[in-house]
Amino acid sequence: MRAIKIGLIGESHPGWERILLQEGVPFSGVLSPPGADEFSAVIAASTTDEAKVGWLRSYLAGGGSVLCPAHIFGRLAGVGPREVFINYMLEDTEKAFGRAGLVDIGLECLVAHNANAVKTEGGKPSVFAGEYGGGTVVVLPFDAGDMVLDGRTSTKSFYSGHGRLPFEHVSRVGKGGILKLVSRSLEFLHHRRLIPYGHLWYFPSGSPGVFSWRVDTDGAGPDEISDLYKLTAECSIPASWFLDVKSQQDFIHIFRQMEGHEIGIHCYEHRKYADYDSCLSDVMKAMEVFKRAGLLTSGFAAPYGCWNEEIGRAIEGCGFEYSSEFSYDYDNVPSYPYLKKKISRTLQLPVHPVSIGSLRRQGFDDDSMAEYFEVLIDRKLLSREPVLLYHHPKNGGAGVMRHIFNHIGERKLKILRMIDYARWWKKRNACRIDLAIEGEVLKVSGQNLQDDVWIHVTRPDGSETLVNGSLASVDLRQLNWSDVAWPLPLPTDIRRIRTFNPWIPIKRFEDFIFKKFFRKRDMNRYRI
Ligand SMILES: [Zn+2]
Repeated sequence: MRAIKIGLIGESHPGWERILLQEGVPFSGVLSPPGADEFSAVIAASTTDEAKVGWLRSYLAGGGSVLCPAHIFGRLAGVGPREVFINYMLEDTEKAFGRAGLVDIGLECLVAHNANAVKTEGGKPSVFAGEYGGGTVVVLPFDAGDMVLDGRTSTKSFYSGHGRLPFEHVSRVGKGGILKLVSRSLEFLHHRRLIPYGHLWYFPSGSPGVFSWRVDTDGAGPDEISDLYKLTAECSIPASWFLDVKSQQDFIHIFRQMEGHEIGIHCYEHRKYADYDSCLSDVMKAMEVFKRAGLLTSGFAAPYGCWNEEIGRAIEGCGFEYSSEFSYDYDNVPSYPYLKKKISRTLQLPVHPVSIGSLRRQGFDDDSMAEYFEVLIDRKLLSREPVLLYHHPKNGGAGVMRHIFNHIGERKLKILRMIDYARWWKKRNACRIDLAIEGEVLKVSGQNLQDDVWIHVTRPDGSETLVNGSLASVDLRQLNWSDVAWPLPLPTDIRRIRTFNPWIPIKRFEDFIFKKFFRKRDMNRYRI
């Protein structure tokens, strides 16, 4: 019997633990020299010391598989890595490293001397994947655990076939892309050893994906709120509403009457939080109004998607079950932020940061907006990302919304409120699963296993299946296997999104002028 289990070498590493919990792959720390059958793959974090580099050497000699950063590989191979500034990496057209998309890095990195995969913006390979020392290695140009803890933010353009690109201020590092690079690496490392790769599926009960419709009220009036509620009710979409409470408090009873929808807090006053105190006092004010109105809430989404550790601490301090800010993360599965040496209790649910409002600002008409979201939804579905979109009632767009909801129905995504996906994810996170393979039989054991948390299994021949995670033992020959469906390759002009976007300074200048010469209400109407 062979375990499907990842060994983690290096000091306790919250970044790696985050990635491995997101991926849902069984893992544990490596405390003594690992046997080739004890771990199906080993990850060496950047803190791996010289003695443990020796463990890697003997593990590889036994046919093991290792994922490590280039400076650790340099110590194994005796050939140092090259220093390279990597702005971004692009998924490979070969399937081993497909599905990662464009991965933003923005850092000085170390690239293995023999890199042969995943090209950077300059067209040079940044990853080595292949045989080494009797086993198989994947060598990344960074420690992925460090990368997902990177808190930098920047304004980025997002791809569209339309001439003008939408943009938003988001997390600098493409953390969703980092997770996918690790996931593809682990899959490659297992398949090279002819071991199936298995991890907890990202969505409940084997659904192909989930869809949530987040609504930030942002100064909307009661008629705009009612119109949007009616449209979502008609399309059977239970939305997650986040109230900018100051502008909504006079008619807050409307939200109490919404059936099956979720009501969360966006803020009291719609402005950027400067620090912990300003966030805490504003949110407390909003919570007070909620309490008086008899509204219960578990979810939060900060104005302008702003997040940093101070805001994260204030949100956690207010007791929210989850929050959603794209300057923490976007286009990814949920995760728990790391705050001042401890893991937050408030889960993060990343959304796609471009809304109908951002597209309209770039001159998109209804047809091109509908096309944007259709392409986005299909790519997310095939990239195994949740489809979490957000909207503002003041932006209208009823026709586009109907198109989105219709497309979601056609693709058979599971429609959930954000709180439902957050609670399911917490349950998934609590599963402590052990997987082993004996011949063609997959053995499943562990703690807190759940009926609706399934296991995704892929085989070296490129096929995949989903297994109910509460089963103890599954004969893989009895299951339906299908070829893994891959997204279309990235558009040939994808690099356009990381070249200068003149609309960013133009729109910023417009915002500046509006702020200076118009009242705040008008500003709100303009820039949502
Ligand atoms: Zn807002």
